[in-house]
Parts: sequence; C-alpha cells; structure tokens
Amino acid sequence: MKQKYDVLIIGQGIAGSCLAYLLLQQGISTHIISSPLKPNASRIAGGLIQRISGNFLSLPDLIQDHFDDAVSFYNNLNSVFKIPIIQNYPTFRILDSSQLKLWEKKCSQKRYSAYLPLNLSPFSINQKTHQAIKFNETYVVNTELLLTLFTNFFIKKNMLTLYTLQEHELTFKKDRVEFNNITANYIIFCVGSFLKEWSLFKNFSMTNSKGDILSLRLHNPEKQVIQSDKWLAPAEDNLFKFGSTYEQDSSLAPKKSNYYELCSSLDRLGFCDYSIHNIASAHRCTFYDYKPSMGFLSSIPQVGIFSGFSSKGYITAPSLAQQWSRTFPGIKTKELLPHRLNRR
Ligand SMILES: Cc1cc2nc3c(=O)[nH]c(=O)nc-3n(C[C@H](O)[C@H](O)[C@H](O)COP(=O)(O)OP(=O)(O)OC[C@H]3O[C@@H](n4cnc5c(N)ncnc54)[C@H](O)[C@@H]3O)c2cc1C
Repeated sequence: MKQKYDVLIIGQGIAGSCLAYLLLQQGISTHIISSPLKPNASRIAGGLIQRISGNFLSLPDLIQDHFDDAVSFYNNLNSVFKIPIIQNYPTFRILDSSQLKLWEKKCSQKRYSAYLPLNLSPFSINQKTHQAIKFNETYVVNTELLLTLFTNFFIKKNMLTLYTLQEHELTFKKDRVEFNNITANYIIFCVGSFLKEWSLFKNFSMTNSKGDILSLRLHNPEKQVIQSDKWLAPAEDNLFKFGSTYEQDSSLAPKKSNYYELCSSLDRLGFCDYSIHNIASAHRCTFYDYKPSMGFLSSIPQVGIFSGFSSKGYITAPSLAQQWSRTFPGIKTKELLPHRLNRR
C-alpha cells in the first residue's frame, strides 16, 4: 500500500525541520527523508542570532526582516520542548582600529543608533585588554539540541525516514512524485549545499563556502559571546564553539590549516587555558545573490526548494517557513522564487 502525503521533504537540517514542523501545524501531511550519513550544516553551526553582522558592522535587511520572527519561533519551541533552546547572552564585539572608526561613524547614523552601543566597553581576556562594544541583543540557539529534539519529534509522529535518497530513485508523474511506497503531491529539497549533487538543479548559480569550527572547553568560562573576526559562543555540554573559517573548498573534511588559523585567533584574543574537543566542518549553501530560495521550479512544478540560507539559516529559515506554510503551496515572497537562479 502506498503512503500518501501532501509534501515529501528531503533533508532535516534547520530548513527541513522548520518547514515540516510548520506545515504539520497547518494540517498539511508531510514526510521527511534525511540522510544519516551526509553532514548537516545546521548541527555544526554556531546558532548565533544577531542584528549587526560581519566585520563591517552591517545591518542587512534580510536579517532585520526575519530577526523578531526567528526569536519568537525559538522561544515558542522552548515551551513546546520544555527545555531552553535559545538563550540571550551578553556579547562583546572586539573592534580593531578600522572598525573603531566605522563604529564612531555608524553610531551617529539614524539607522544604526537603535542598535549600536554609544560607549566602548573595554574587555579583558587573561589580562589582554581589547576595545569592545557590548550588545545585549544576541541570542544563541543550541543547534545540536534543537536538531535532536526535532528528530525525536518527527520519529514519534512517524514523519521521518533516515535514508540517503538518490535521484534515480524518484519517479516524477504529472501531478505527483513517487519513491518506493511513498507518493506525494510535492517534493521539497532542503538538502543545503548538497543541492549541487542533483541534476535537477545543475543550472543554479551557487557559491557555497566551507566553514571549519572548533568545539572547546574553557577553564573558568563565562557564558557570553565574544566576537572579533571569529566568534566564541556557548554550546551544548558546557562546551563553546569557536568559528569559523570561510573558504571555497569542496572537500568535506576539516583542514589542518584552518585548525591552526582558529587556534592562532584564540591566542590573539588572549585565551591560553582551553582544551579542544573536536573540529568539524560544513558548507554554507549560498546562491549568487546571497538570498535564500523558496518555491517550485517552473520546469517541474511539483519540485520545490527551500535552501540557500548561507551563513544566516538560523535567522531566516524559521520566518520564511512560517510564511510559506501559511500560504502553501502558493508563495508571497516572489523575489525568492528559484527560477532566478538559472544560469543564463
Ligand atoms: C561553520 C558554520 C557556522 C555557522 N554559523 C551560523 C550561525 O551562527 N548562525 C546562523 O544563522 N547560521 C550559521 N551557519 C549557517 C547555517 O548552518 C546554515 O544556513 C543552515 O544550517 C542551513 O540549513 P539547511 O537545512 O539548509 O542545510 P543542512 O543543515 O546542511 O541540512 C541539509 C540536510 O539534508 C540532508 N541531505 C543531503 N543530501 C541528502 C540526500 N541525498 N538524501 C537525504 N538527505 C540528504 C543532510 O544530511 C542534512 O541533514 C553556519 C554555517 C557553518 C558552516
């Protein structure tokens, strides 16, 4: 007997999890197939949610548009799962000399004045003092915990099959998609950077970047976020994550040179008493215009994607999933439709 669903989602990272969870709330029957073998960028990510981002202290519209929805989505999950998934931490943003000038300039601009602190908060790490500004509106999602809670939730509801799907296993009919004993009206790819493995998306312009990240144990840790060109954030089991590197590299394994780059950043910040638990890496699925994509292909209308969250998936995916699930299968945010990604 065929199992019939409205939607089949491929990939259970933050994108697939949010979309499946929210479609379910709209009464849309959904099943997920997710690989137990392929790495999941969402587990590795720092889970930082901040308005001001990057070395240029910028305030991107994409973040402002989704920030509040993201925070309230995770706060709501705190009560659903009855465990803190998102937490607010004080954040020290260490500024080098050019960023100090930038900060002085931006402080006086109306757009930034609500978000940038007006005073410096000098900050010391083991007697090394840095010029820094302090933010109070930084949230950190416990990414490992959240993904595990979602996995357990979907398993309990019989909504998840752990399997690495291959393209030749899918059959596309005029009004549905079939795989083994599953038939669905729509299939939506939430496979992150693995989108490039599918010939369905071979014409998409992608500039994925790889990031390596350390998990470490600090002696005498304070639960706070510290940022320079890298960031340190509290994670699960009293560990901290320290990341991350950016490079164009298609390999899946972390690199020795990135390990040394991260360790020397820790040294420059003044950390001397820490032990490294592990190093992990993942690719950020990034389209040419650095915007995510959601919607169906014009060539095969039962095939959708929800992907391209680059380095901001924890901020943008929940709010976009909310928008899509409310109007499903239609879409309001037309500028994100995938046809824009086809290379001319
Ligand atoms: C080092 C690093 C740090 C980051 N830090 C942050 C941060 O602090 N804040 C933030 O907002 N974002 C951060 N990001 C970005 C964030 O991780 C991504 O935007 C987000 O995780 C993308 O989620 P996704 O669900 O699209 O992809 P993924 O999390 O990669 O999920 C894809 C899923 O698809 C599955 N899959 C792939 N192929 C198949 C197949 N053939 N069959 C079945 N399943 C398949 C994979 O196993 C995986 O589970 C960071 C990224 C990196 C690399």
